[in-house]
Amino acid sequence: MSNGKKKQQGPPPLTPLSEDWDRALCVVAHPDDMEFGAAAAVARWTSQGKDIAYCMVTSGEAGIDALAPYQAKALREAEQIESARLVGVHEVQFLGLPDGVLEYNVELRRLICKAVRTHEPDIVITGNFRDTWGGKNLNQADHIAVGRAVLDAVRDAGNRWIFNDQVTAGFGAWDGVREVWAFGSPGAEHAVDITDSFDLGVASLQAHEAYIEGLGWENFDPREFLEGIARVTGQRLGVPFGAAFEVFPMGWGE
Ligand SMILES: [Zn+2]
Repeated sequence: MSNGKKKQQGPPPLTPLSEDWDRALCVVAHPDDMEFGAAAAVARWTSQGKDIAYCMVTSGEAGIDALAPYQAKALREAEQIESARLVGVHEVQFLGLPDGVLEYNVELRRLICKAVRTHEPDIVITGNFRDTWGGKNLNQADHIAVGRAVLDAVRDAGNRWIFNDQVTAGFGAWDGVREVWAFGSPGAEHAVDITDSFDLGVASLQAHEAYIEGLGWENFDPREFLEGIARVTGQRLGVPFGAAFEVFPMGWGE
């Protein structure tokens, strides 16, 4: 060390996300995914008048050990719809693909592409699809398949010659998605202030009552869990509570 100046410790600061958009579509693998990383952010944006819809690739039917998938499916869909309602989201679509065994493939892209063409969003939000959550905790296969397919499906949606049957059926090509945002990503460099909407985010996670109970995590407290993450993120943004996102620009040459 040649002088007394110490290098700043800790993770680098986060840049505020843009909020000059009107419509977002959130595409995730499972009911509960949004609530573990982004529901408070969604609550903030819907309170600003933004229009946000959810698209669940599966119904999370393999997520409750004590319940057979056909029983869990209806329960988890109902919990997700209520959870979404609490943060101002009134449209929840379930694509019905099989929970736990999703594959990245053209069929997955086709279905997500159709959702993008239907909703015509400015921003598409998905979950972390990196290999880990940072550190050694491995990500789950469905999350990785969905996130990668979202990036490609957003591109597909803008090209009328890809999945052209959708276009001839009346779903126009949509090239208006500016960015894809992945919450929970270890590569996040952006964040949003969720201090005012934090409680709604907690309520949204608590709405997954049967699922949380089925996890069997001893003493799991949704508020405590979300607060730990939000506080650390908030410190990097300079606010009490924050939610971080990795931003993928969808235009060419950016
Ligand atoms: Zn999940």
